[in-house]
Amino acid sequence: MIYFDNAATSWPKPEVVYKKNDEFFRNSCANPGRASHIMSVESAKALEECRLMLSKLFNCPEKDRIVFTFSTTDSLNMVINGLLNQGDHVITTTMEHNSVVRPLEEMRKKSVEISYIQCNSEGFVSPSDIKKQIKNNTKLICINHVSNVTGTIQPVNEICAIARENGINSLVDGAQAVGVIPVDINEIGADFYAFPGHKGLFGPTGTGGLVIPRNTNLRPFRRGGTGSHSEEVEQPALLPYRYESGTMNVLGIAGLLEGVKFIMSEGIDAIRKHEECLVKYIIEGLGDLGQLKLYGPENLSLRTSVISFNIDGWDSSLLGITLEQGYGILSRTGMHCSPMAHKTIGTYPEGTVRISLGYFNNLEQADTFVNAVKGIVYPKG
Ligand code: PMP
Repeated sequence: MIYFDNAATSWPKPEVVYKKNDEFFRNSCANPGRASHIMSVESAKALEECRLMLSKLFNCPEKDRIVFTFSTTDSLNMVINGLLNQGDHVITTTMEHNSVVRPLEEMRKKSVEISYIQCNSEGFVSPSDIKKQIKNNTKLICINHVSNVTGTIQPVNEICAIARENGINSLVDGAQAVGVIPVDINEIGADFYAFPGHKGLFGPTGTGGLVIPRNTNLRPFRRGGTGSHSEEVEQPALLPYRYESGTMNVLGIAGLLEGVKFIMSEGIDAIRKHEECLVKYIIEGLGDLGQLKLYGPENLSLRTSVISFNIDGWDSSLLGITLEQGYGILSRTGMHCSPMAHKTIGTYPEGTVRISLGYFNNLEQADTFVNAVKGIVYPKG
C-alpha cells in the first residue's frame, strides 16, 4: 500500500510518536495543571515541553503565545468567531478551505461583509488586489499559506505586511505549510497563525494550535476550567490558558511533542528537499502524457508536494478507485473541501485526483505512481 494522502493527515508517524503515545497513555496520562500529584505534573510537563518546542520551530519568542487546539479548523473558528463583530469587513481569497469559508459565511448572517479576492489559475493571489479591497471597516485579512488543492505557496509575508501597515489583523491558515516548508512567525508577520498537529508535524489526530499575539482582545471561543484562578468567575487573562479551557488532548500533545522533535532533528530543509525531489520526479515522469492535466504552479519552488490532476475521459473518483484497487495507491478525489479553489482552477464541480507526498514516501513509490498513471492512460492490449 502506498499512502499518498498526507495533506489530509500524515501517515505513518515516526516510530517515536507511536512509542511515546503507548507509554504515556499507560503511565502518565492525567489532567495537566489541575493537581499536584505526579501524574498531573508529568502531563503538564509534556504540554509545556511541546509548547516550548513549537515556539522554537516557529521562531516565536514567547511560548505562551502558542495555544493548543484540536485542529486547524478549531483554531480558525477561534479567530473568526472571537474577533469579528457586526459591520466588520473581511478580505479572503477564492483558494480557501471550507474551514475558513464556512465560519466566515456564518458571520455574514451577523452582518459581517466578506470580499473574496480572485486568485489566478495557478492558485496565486496578488497582494495588490488585496490592498485595493481595504476599507475603513476592514478588520481581518485571512489567507492560506499553502493551498490544499494545488500546493501553491502564497506570498503571505507581503500580505501580512499590507495588513500591518493598515492596522488590520491577519490570520494565516497554515494547515498545509507547517512541517512542509519553513514557518518563521516573525518573518511572516502574521497576527494569528493556525496550524494542525496531525499533518506535517506528525502528531496524532485531534491536535492543532494557534499562534496569537501577546496583546489581543480576541474573545475566548471556549470558556471554562483552566486549573488556575479558579476563584474568578471571569475567564482569566493569563496566556495561554485564556484560550485553553477544559481538559486538553494531553495524549495527543505528548505524541505531537515527539513529532516536532523528530522534525527539528531531521530539519525542515531536508524534509522540503526530499519532497521536492519526489514532486520533480513525478511531474517530469508524467510531463509528456497528452491526456493528463496537472494543476498548480509550474515553478516547483513555489509549490509543495500536493499534486492535483485529471485524465481526459476519467471521472476523478473512478480514477482514485482504480489507483487504489489496481496499484495500491491511496489518493484523495473530488473537491477536497475547497469548492471555490476548484472554481478558481477550472475543475468545478468534477474536482481532481490529489496525491500529497510526505517525508516517508520514496522514489520507488513515486515511480510506481508514474507507471500506474501511464498504465491507465495507455492500457496494454
Ligand atoms: N485548511 C486547509 C488549507 C487544509 O488543507 C485543511 C485540512 N484539509 C484544513 C484547513 C483543516 O485542517 P484540520 O483537519 O486540521 O482541521
